[in-house]
Amino acid sequence: MKERIIVTMPKKEMIKEWYNVKADLPFALDPPLNPQTKEVITPEALSAIFCPSIIEQEVTTERYVKIPEDVLDEYVVFRPTPLIRASFLEEYLETPARIYYKYEGVSPTGSHKTNTALAQAYFNARDGIKQLVTETGAGQWGSALSYAGTKFGLKVKVFMVRISYNQKPMRKYMMQLFDGSVQESPSQSTKCGQEYLKEDPKHPGSLGIAISEAIETVLNEGNSRYSLGSVLDHVLLHQTVIGQELKKQLSMIGEIPTILIGCHGGGSNFGGTILPFIPEKLDGQEIRFIACEPESCPTLTKGEYRYDFGDSSGFTPLLMMYTLGKDFVPPKIHAGGLRYHGSAPIIAKLLKEGLIEADSFSQEETFKAAKVFSKVEGIIPAPESAHAIAGAIREAIKAKSEGRREVIVFNLSGHGLLDLSAYA
Ligand SMILES: *Cc1c(COP(=O)(O)O)cnc(C)c1O
Repeated sequence: MKERIIVTMPKKEMIKEWYNVKADLPFALDPPLNPQTKEVITPEALSAIFCPSIIEQEVTTERYVKIPEDVLDEYVVFRPTPLIRASFLEEYLETPARIYYKYEGVSPTGSHKTNTALAQAYFNARDGIKQLVTETGAGQWGSALSYAGTKFGLKVKVFMVRISYNQKPMRKYMMQLFDGSVQESPSQSTKCGQEYLKEDPKHPGSLGIAISEAIETVLNEGNSRYSLGSVLDHVLLHQTVIGQELKKQLSMIGEIPTILIGCHGGGSNFGGTILPFIPEKLDGQEIRFIACEPESCPTLTKGEYRYDFGDSSGFTPLLMMYTLGKDFVPPKIHAGGLRYHGSAPIIAKLLKEGLIEADSFSQEETFKAAKVFSKVEGIIPAPESAHAIAGAIREAIKAKSEGRREVIVFNLSGHGLLDLSAYA
């Protein structure tokens, strides 16, 4: 029988703290600015859109943040997630590289987003908030937050980018199953949505516009707060359960990774995967981190490094990041979760400082990789995650032609069982 390595971890070894990379970085991050005054934003200014516990996590400099017991009780449903050796893919590629993937598709809604959704719902409920409002692209974030909302007794309202709402109705049904209320964006229910519809009644929408609609709703409805599924420091913090588990699992089998790969939309699964390995990198260990993005939304590879709004209408604080400009409307690619004009400030800074790399992939190369992976490994990846697979394949082929024995690990951020229309 062929060898198949699947590294699982006992529940009792669950990661119990989130890791805050900011405690270890030898440089400071450029802080978010108040768009009116251009001064560093105060925690008070954020309190209209975020609850106090979340703001605290956004700004904390503590190296570790304890995961509350109630959140661990929910993580235990699907964590620790498995680390799988892609032995069939290695064989197919005839590469000397060893390839592994961390599989986040086993989460209740099928992607890594549940890691932060559960945390955010818990803290908002604890702070007395009754409703969370958010945006969603392909629907993974809206589903994850709706699920988390039912777990912690919060109402969840979701603005879903129109193109995805129409292309991917399955996730709309999933949100509804978890009692989320979902509407297509741009919508008639906000002023900014109405503006976009006036310009173009068939506007395909974008994440930036949906964020604007969500924030406008929070500012107009009582006891509501906004919840973001990527980009911000606290979201990346919550996602570090991925990288910390990964580190343990690799050491359980005596592997030292040389290349870590993740797809990049706003930077949360990539950050969650690689940030726990930054201390080793700073200590001089030979390890590369590669963020993989679509050629058609090339934030990290072609964007400018500057302050920009996180949304399209200019409601959010100014964030220092790689950006294609807040008005960028990406082409209608299938990887809806990667259609974002900006990037996480932490990831942007790491790229600027040369600690990580970025690479971009055509839709064709990405789907080719996804197809190969589905057939040989037996998991249909989300179109977003397929960018990480394409990245791993590129590096494995390079390793073969250069005769290097790399240990390549990528994060498989979600399954694609609800994305079959994209494959069609
Ligand atoms: C949302 C999503 C992404 C992109 O978001 P990041 O914050 O960059 O991780 C990637 N993969 C899947 C499966 C997603 O749902």
